Amino acid sequence: MRALVYLGPRRMELQEVPDPVAGPGDVVIDSVVSAVCGSDLHGFREASPRRIPPLVMGHETIGRIGAVGTGVDPERLGQRVVLKPIISCGRCAACRAGDINRCREGRLVGRDLAGGFAERFAVPATAAVPVPSELPDEVAVLTEPLANAEHVTERAVREGDVVFVIGSGPIGALMVRAAFLHRARQVIVTDTNPERLAFAVAQGAEGVPGDDALEAVTAATDGWGADVVIDAAGFETTWALGLQAIRPGGHIFEIGLGAPRGMVEFFTVLGKEATITGSYAWSDQDFARSLELLAGGALTPDGWLTRVPLAEGQQAFEDLADRGQPFKVLLELG
Ligand SMILES: [Zn+2]
Ligand SMILES: [Zn+2]
Repeated sequence: MRALVYLGPRRMELQEVPDPVAGPGDVVIDSVVSAVCGSDLHGFREASPRRIPPLVMGHETIGRIGAVGTGVDPERLGQRVVLKPIISCGRCAACRAGDINRCREGRLVGRDLAGGFAERFAVPATAAVPVPSELPDEVAVLTEPLANAEHVTERAVREGDVVFVIGSGPIGALMVRAAFLHRARQVIVTDTNPERLAFAVAQGAEGVPGDDALEAVTAATDGWGADVVIDAAGFETTWALGLQAIRPGGHIFEIGLGAPRGMVEFFTVLGKEATITGSYAWSDQDFARSLELLAGGALTPDGWLTRVPLAEGQQAFEDLADRGQPFKVLLELG
């Protein structure tokens, strides 16, 4: 079968690789489409200790069950599924609470085991979640990224809040949608790339390019500051912007992978009694809720996705890394 294999920073290659086998309790998913996530892109740009080449990335996948291992209901053959890519131990305290993103033995498909940028891949049967038939692939494939947004906004946003989202990539735009689903009063979003603001604006946000963002938050809140800041970029500059924009007692959520470390103005954290919370992936409940929201028509991702054949994957990664375009890439496998 064909797979797009990551061979090191900025190197992807279409290769012929052996077909996966469904072990006990596993299924093989025949991929139909796999979206490129910001974290795949992060792995493509620079060497990461968490993505060891050669690796088949991809954790936002829609496919059909093509084979089942022993102990899996054969009735599932042919079932259309969305990949639920966190493989957790199921026994630890975090897993028992449904917080599978906190499992110490947790593995991620497309990072710790071969993922969806291949015609087929094997996962535990529990990682293949049935998709309602009326939900198109182009919407269902957003289940995992929307779960990330649900994980933040479910904790962050209260009715009537003014929310400031920094970074208007797919995750930023999903944060906007999710903030409104949690009854935010107003969402202001900023990005250094003004073209990308359009997608967040289409979700109901006020889009403000670069330098004017702080002023917009100040004006919207009578100089008080935003109730919630969601930083979907994650650089020194955006940490600083978030701290300037947050109101006293407000809550900043960090989800962007921009920089691993840097300076933070902690006197402002103290002075404002700000809370900074990290966010990684999602819980069982967030994932289930995300699929439910999409099935209920919560999101119309018009114009979000650009379909690219698997063979052109390397080029798509380069375009995303160098130009931030297109907005979100859907690799076609089926
Ligand atoms: Zn993702
Ligand atoms: Zn666990």
